[in-house]
Amino acid sequence: MGKLSNPKFAKEIMNEAGFRTQKKYGQNFLMDEGVLIDIVEAADITEDDFVIEIGPGIGTLSEVILERAYKALLIEIDDKLIPILNKTLGGFDNVKIVNTDIMKIDLDKLIEEESEGRKVKIVANLPYYITTPILMKILRGHVSYESITVMVQKEVAERMEAKPGSKDYGALSLAVQFYTEPEIIEKVPAGKFFPPPKVDSAVITLRKKETELPDSVSEELLFSIIRSSFEQRRKALYNGLVNHKELGLNKEKAKKAITELGWPETIRGEKLTLKDFIKLSEQIAITK
Ligand code: SAM
Repeated sequence: MGKLSNPKFAKEIMNEAGFRTQKKYGQNFLMDEGVLIDIVEAADITEDDFVIEIGPGIGTLSEVILERAYKALLIEIDDKLIPILNKTLGGFDNVKIVNTDIMKIDLDKLIEEESEGRKVKIVANLPYYITTPILMKILRGHVSYESITVMVQKEVAERMEAKPGSKDYGALSLAVQFYTEPEIIEKVPAGKFFPPPKVDSAVITLRKKETELPDSVSEELLFSIIRSSFEQRRKALYNGLVNHKELGLNKEKAKKAITELGWPETIRGEKLTLKDFIKLSEQIAITK
């Protein structure tokens, strides 16, 4: 086990390099050996795997990944961390560090160039200011990964795993559950990070799955309907559908699409399962 999970040692490394964590990049470094091991075990990293780590920081999680993976590619936005990573991970010959913004990189191209056709596992202690955009880039972009194991804000993990009818259920739950099977692995208190964030966190694994759509329904249509259904959570579903101009539905058409499916016209989006949203999208595609 490497030494970077030892807070005293990690702080010495940062002080030596004159490095100060930056809030704008969501730099809260994980300082708990047990949780680091839980993350790589949940990700089920083997010596055959190609791992992409988003935001390696000073290399705390990277070190544990590199001990198990065939190869890992680390994508870090902060150029001040690159010399530190070169030093802390200097003993590994299976690492490649890329200094860029994850939102600006073509992940599929990178995988094609670097993975040698191996299974791709994405692992990260994500910067919380940009969690959802990063996950949507990977999920909606159909990146060729097998699983994603990430630390996120606890409430976000709960939303990803939420089922219909619960208060946490919404557009994020449906997007995540369309592309993957989510499983919360553990909750992690703020005190396990340096500096501690204001919120507690959770580790969640998303295992890729395929969800079939009927020919008449595109992912764009489905997600546009899902988004519009949750924009006004407390109102009946048809209101959101009418307000979403792109769908081109007036009140009558929106209500008709709902009642044709045998649902009460006042039904709310939070009651509908993913399958229901697919049925509704099919109905709307006919009604339009
Ligand atoms: N992996 C380390 C750990 O577990 O201690 C650091 C995690 S820290 C929560 C998030 C990391 O993501 C930071 O190193 C930060 O600089 C980096 N980061 C923030 N925004 C990024 C972006 N858009 N692209 C790539 N890395 C980013």
